[in-house]
Amino acid sequence: MKLLEEKILAEGHALDENILKVDSFINHKVDPQLMKEIGKEFAEHFKNQGITKVITIESSGIAPALTTAIEMNIPLVILKKQPSQVLNQDLYHTEVASFTKGTSYELTLSMHQIDENDHVLIIDDFLANGEAATGALRLIRKAHATIAGIGVLIEKAFQPGRSKLEEQMIPVYSLARISKLGKDLIEFVSEHQE
Ligand code: 5GP
Repeated sequence: MKLLEEKILAEGHALDENILKVDSFINHKVDPQLMKEIGKEFAEHFKNQGITKVITIESSGIAPALTTAIEMNIPLVILKKQPSQVLNQDLYHTEVASFTKGTSYELTLSMHQIDENDHVLIIDDFLANGEAATGALRLIRKAHATIAGIGVLIEKAFQPGRSKLEEQMIPVYSLARISKLGKDLIEFVSEHQE
């Protein structure tokens, strides 16, 4: 998606060869107009597939997942990282390794929000090693729902997330595919490399 690639080049900062900082439009401050366009793009790509819910992981996936859910006119379900005082019963749990923090966290889904009648679309900000997406898939499978695919804003194509998901026959659609990061360097996968 040209708009997102332009924004990444204008405002993204590669911290090193592995991490891209996008705090000024995705992770901290959010660009609502960009999120609106992203929602339209995902809704168009995944249309006519009988998708019943959009699923995301708190917190950076929420903005694009919400605009996607609005465009598709279906509910959004947010997988929770923190145990809650209110939401602490009837939960599916799974453990996920955090890419940015180097630790692991527990991801939960209420048994009341997704069931075997659902066909879901996962939306997240980044795809790196695919741990977050794989954790989300485990929870969705525990709920006996089916998976239409995964949409991510930024795929770091030099990391193994896509292949892990495609091995499980999960369609992956990413709006910007980065082939290389380095100090002051951001390169996208060119069309002939795809
Ligand atoms: P994965 O589970 O695919 O290894 O990593 C995905 C999660 O880690 C994303 O939801 C995102 O929050 C975080 N992440 C992975 N790579 C980056 C990155 O380069 N920059 C930022 N800001 N977050 C990242």
